[in-house]
Amino acid sequence: VGDKITCDMLDQLSLRSYPLCMQTLHNHIKVKHHAKHEGRMQYGLFLKGMGVSLEESLKYWRTQFCKGGIDTEKFDKTYAYNVRHNYGKEGKRADYSPFSCLKIISSSEPKGDECHGCPYKHSDELSLRHLLEKRKISAEATEEILGLKRQGHYQVACMSLFKATHPKEGLHGGLQHPNQYFEESQTILS
Ligand code: SF4
Repeated sequence: VGDKITCDMLDQLSLRSYPLCMQTLHNHIKVKHHAKHEGRMQYGLFLKGMGVSLEESLKYWRTQFCKGGIDTEKFDKTYAYNVRHNYGKEGKRADYSPFSCLKIISSSEPKGDECHGCPYKHSDELSLRHLLEKRKISAEATEEILGLKRQGHYQVACMSLFKATHPKEGLHGGLQHPNQYFEESQTILS
C-alpha cells in the first residue's frame, strides 16, 4: 500500500486492518476533531509507519482539526510543526520511529480527554468489551481476550483479536508493533 495511502482511505483501513489502539485514536479524532499531544504522536507516527506521506498526513490533521473549529492559520502555526517534526523535518531533524507495543503499553495512563495508550492495558473491562462488540467477534473470542487482559497478556490479547478478524492464520512470531499488525493484516486482506 505504502505511498499510495491517501487520507480518504483511512476510515476503511482502520475498520479492516488497524489494531485497537489506533482504531480508538482514529475514531476519537473523527468524532472530536482533536487529540491531545500523546495521541497525536502515537497516531501520527503510526501513519508515517504505514507509509502515509508528510503531505497526506498534514492534509489529514488539517482537515480534522479545522472541522473542530481550528482555523487553517492556527493549525499551520501550532500543529503543523508537530506533524513535520514527526517526519524529521523540524527541530533536530531526527527520524522518529513509530511507537512499539511495549512503549504504548508502558505510556502514561490516559486521563480526561486523552485517548492514547493500549486499550487492553488502559481501558477498563467494560469499555474494552464495548470496543470488541463493535468488531463483531464471537462471544468465545471476546471472553478469551478479556481473560488475557485480566492476566496482563496485552499483546497476546491483541493477537487473539487479529485471529478472530482475519480469515487465515494469525500473526507470525508474536506481536511487537502496531505497524506489524497493520502490515500483516493488509497482506492477508488485500
Ligand atoms: Fe496496539 Fe500493541 Fe496494544 Fe495491540 S498490543 S492495541 S498493537 S499497543
